[in-house]
Amino acid sequence: MSKIFFYTPANDIAKRCLMETGKVLVKEGDTATISCPICLKAKKISVARYREQNKRELRIKCSCGNIFCLCLEYRKHPRKPVKLLGKCINLSKHRERQDIIIKNISLGGIGFYPFRKHRTQKEDRLEVSFLLNDRNNTPIDADAIVRAAGTDYICCEFNASETFTASLGFYLLS
Ligand SMILES: [Zn+2]
Repeated sequence: MSKIFFYTPANDIAKRCLMETGKVLVKEGDTATISCPICLKAKKISVARYREQNKRELRIKCSCGNIFCLCLEYRKHPRKPVKLLGKCINLSKHRERQDIIIKNISLGGIGFYPFRKHRTQKEDRLEVSFLLNDRNNTPIDADAIVRAAGTDYICCEFNASETFTASLGFYLLS
């Protein structure tokens, strides 16, 4: 399972890729999820070293034999500092519930303070819900994955399938 993909920066232009170049968004923590357009295998990779070298094009060989190119997009999600009350259910810890104070929010996720002692760990799946303090008090209910968990601060990333982008995007700009 570990060696699905081999990847190298595609700076060798002579080696044309068989597939059209797709785009993949680099998430916080410099990770990107790449998937083979033929067999649909997916893998999360660290792209920190490519970011350091300012490389954007990757040439990827999948275990199915397909070779394709990807363009890394380093779009950064601006974080807005906030102070919002919310609730969190930890689906990975028998639905452990807790009240939280959301400290910052971006299109990619939130950082929050838990009210009480918790057992939340990295990679746990959370269900977070809160109201934005915008004109409509837009409710946000999101599935998220914990990226970092300390005693006093937890940082999580929204599930990519979440579609509250419009209301939240507007809020982040205000
Ligand atoms: Zn493949």
